[in-house]
Amino acid sequence: MSRRSDPRTYDLDRLREDVLAEHGGEVDDSIPQLASADPDFCALALALPDGTVRSSVHADVRFSVQSAVKPFLFALALLDTQGEALDRIGIEPTGEAFDAIKLESGTGRPPNPMVNAGALLTAALVSGDDVAARDARILAGLSAFAGRALEVDEHVARDEHLLGDRNHALAHLMRAEGALEVSADDAVAVYARACAVLVDVEALAVMGATLALGGRNPVTGEQVVPPDVARDVVSVMATCGVYDGSGRWMRSVGIPAKSSVSGAIVMAVPGRLGAAVVSPPLDEYGTSVRGHAASRRLSDDLGLHVFGDP
Ligand code: GLU
Repeated sequence: MSRRSDPRTYDLDRLREDVLAEHGGEVDDSIPQLASADPDFCALALALPDGTVRSSVHADVRFSVQSAVKPFLFALALLDTQGEALDRIGIEPTGEAFDAIKLESGTGRPPNPMVNAGALLTAALVSGDDVAARDARILAGLSAFAGRALEVDEHVARDEHLLGDRNHALAHLMRAEGALEVSADDAVAVYARACAVLVDVEALAVMGATLALGGRNPVTGEQVVPPDVARDVVSVMATCGVYDGSGRWMRSVGIPAKSSVSGAIVMAVPGRLGAAVVSPPLDEYGTSVRGHAASRRLSDDLGLHVFGDP
């Protein structure tokens, strides 16, 4: 027991220094803003139940949230549809890349909310009659999860929308299958803006903590989503959050998480804490190489693996 470190005193800068020595992986090049990211950027943060947020150096450097937004879009869609989103989207892992042009066989639904098809639909299911209204609702919801006002990087949003050919293809496929009610372009526009929301690791750790702690933000005290919604989201993060690397992740780190192409990873340790790490170079599953290494060490050092000690 006592060999475990205490999250209140754990040395995050030391962990950061150690993982900086890892040099594998490639920075994503899907849009110019991601391609120009500093490959040696790395930061970590923890958000604890008493509202304490602890972080390494560079924890205030902002980056676009990208797919780390997907659990929160799912949460908002569940809330705004009173759970109907669970009938509209599957919850099974795909074993395929995040942007595979494929829907659930038999139903024509997106396979799960953590891949692009599912997130295009969750972003379309939040309340709002048009793109601007859904965008505003999402930004307000994400800000409640983070405990502070977040904003969209307009350049990233524009390029995500313009260059996201596979997302346009997925949205059209969902229209053809009757899964998507809004226009394909509107769906991509809202999803692109959600991916372009700027966060830092501290904001992302608080967002993870809010899910981990039954939907209650530990910094503001706001009940952002009900406990059953938070539990549904964390469950799907555990099985689908790291795409086709989810099994490998669950074995080695053992924390429900969501990876993203900006190199960020958001984690929710049920009942214990939220955590986030960012470093842009990605492995073949689209997971930050240093992020994975740091998360594994954090899990070992703090005893966070949900299936317990080996
Ligand atoms: N904006 C990216 C896309 O839709 C997100 C993918 C990711 O972060 O894994 O292609």
